[in-house]
Amino acid sequence: MKKITIAIDGFSSTGKSTLAKQLAQKLQYVYVDSGAMYRAVALYALQHKLIQNSVLNTEELINNLPLIKVAFQYNASLKASEIYLNEVNVNTEIRTMEVSNTVSIVASVPEVRQQLVALQQHMGAKKGIVMDGRDIGTVVFPDAELKLFMTASADTRAQRRYDELVAGGTTVSFDAVLENITSRDHLDSTREDSPLFKSEGAIEIDNSKLSLDHQFEKVLALVNSKIDFKNP
Ligand code: C5P
Repeated sequence: MKKITIAIDGFSSTGKSTLAKQLAQKLQYVYVDSGAMYRAVALYALQHKLIQNSVLNTEELINNLPLIKVAFQYNASLKASEIYLNEVNVNTEIRTMEVSNTVSIVASVPEVRQQLVALQQHMGAKKGIVMDGRDIGTVVFPDAELKLFMTASADTRAQRRYDELVAGGTTVSFDAVLENITSRDHLDSTREDSPLFKSEGAIEIDNSKLSLDHQFEKVLALVNSKIDFKNP
């Protein structure tokens, strides 16, 4: 069967990764969470004190880029890929509020983007991939057969992320989560290099009031319309 590339972009906490994982599992495709890669670089910057009081030492981070190795490794018992920073599993560490509050600053550095985009393009060279992020349909895979752009109201998104964090044992206020989401959206949409926007040909999905099952059904129909079963 012909394999396609599926690019999913959108604002923070719009359920991109949930949808991407569902699709990858159904289609037996590779799933790549590109946000995790930016989060890993932000974690490196925090660990090496390259960000202090939200101020990034950009020059030093750029100098350190050759030393930052980001990779995914499949965990058979979890049936999911986990992210590694310089051979260390950082799957949990990249989800802290500290990383969430600094990742968009790190992601605005063009040299960081170049390094990660090259890696992402390499991962998708053979197609059969679902990748989610902010610039997948615009920069990473502009020729993707299916591009989705996900939105939902800021309150809905903050509630989802808040519930996730609390379920994971993090103590955080709803207002802090809402503030993080809106400020990241602002930084991600207004940065100079690869800002977040709906790419040409992308199909917008507002899932504020859409159930997961209904959303999946709709998207699967779109995927099937892109895979030409007669001419695989
Ligand atoms: O997807 P997630 O919310 O984990 O992404 C974290 C951050 O990484 C985003 O807010 C954005 O600043 C950055 N990012 C990006 N380009 C991508 C994916 C994520 O700039 N393709």
